[in-house]
Amino acid sequence: MEELLERLIEECRPYTSLGKTADYIPELAKKSPEALGVYVIGSEGRHSWAGDCRQSFTLQSMVKPILLLQALLDNGAETVQSKVGVEATGKPFDAINAGERTLDSRHINPMVNMGAIVMCTLIHGDSYEERFQRLLALTGQLVGDSQVSIDQAVYLSEKNHGSKNRALAYLLKSCGILEGDVEEVLDCYFRACSIQVDCRGLAHMGAVLANRGRLPDSNQRVFPAPLARYVNAILMTCGMYDGSGEFAIRVGIPAKSGVSGGIMAVVPTRMGIGIYSPALDHKGNSVAGIQLLEKLSRELYLSIF
Ligand code: GLN
Repeated sequence: MEELLERLIEECRPYTSLGKTADYIPELAKKSPEALGVYVIGSEGRHSWAGDCRQSFTLQSMVKPILLLQALLDNGAETVQSKVGVEATGKPFDAINAGERTLDSRHINPMVNMGAIVMCTLIHGDSYEERFQRLLALTGQLVGDSQVSIDQAVYLSEKNHGSKNRALAYLLKSCGILEGDVEEVLDCYFRACSIQVDCRGLAHMGAVLANRGRLPDSNQRVFPAPLARYVNAILMTCGMYDGSGEFAIRVGIPAKSGVSGGIMAVVPTRMGIGIYSPALDHKGNSVAGIQLLEKLSRELYLSIF
């Protein structure tokens, strides 16, 4: 496995020059665009890695499946689905997916910004701080690091350059889909996007989803199996934004990307994969990361189709 991963890193690194690091906030534009790393955790607990897999980066949209899981754990699938739909939008992750007069919650899903912002309102807890700490604790379990923390510079950058997300949240509020204090909900979303991880953490999270809710090392259950089916299904149809259909054809596994250049991928029953390469395509997905996953999928017959 290590040899294969080393070879794929060599083959895919040139693709980093075809993308651009995210520049909507200054902090992300500072990352070195030629980085590429991969980490794999098999269901039997074996770890393999290659490339720049020790660099840390922020979860960004890869926190969306965690927000969804927390919302499902706290409220059940029926309530969550009554708030936000499960259909692919076919539109960019920050699209204002509204008609002339109305915003229909069935037309958004938890993997686009509007849906993820609503998920922040569904976390249980007596205070905002308690709600966020519960999310952080679940994140720690999923990424296999109980010390998981926020990148303060990215968080402040998100908060200070968050006009689009503010627009989305206030629109949700005006349509009655978002309840509560909008600025507090946005703060939760910005902080959640700014949680720091590395490829190993992403692979660990993928492995928990692949094992349908059990930790890869101890087999301890973190969440019930039906929730893994819910999350993995939405990752398959919506996880790579408006590139999800093409990704399903090229790679064929549930995955979630983030504008930091990470991809968290799930091979049900077999493995979790964490990728990092910050040069993005125009949809916000890592160019070299998708190339690497496509080649890995072919070599190991990973596609579920
Ligand atoms: N923080 C980013 C945003 O809200 C996350 C989106 C992403 O990773 N695509 O715009």
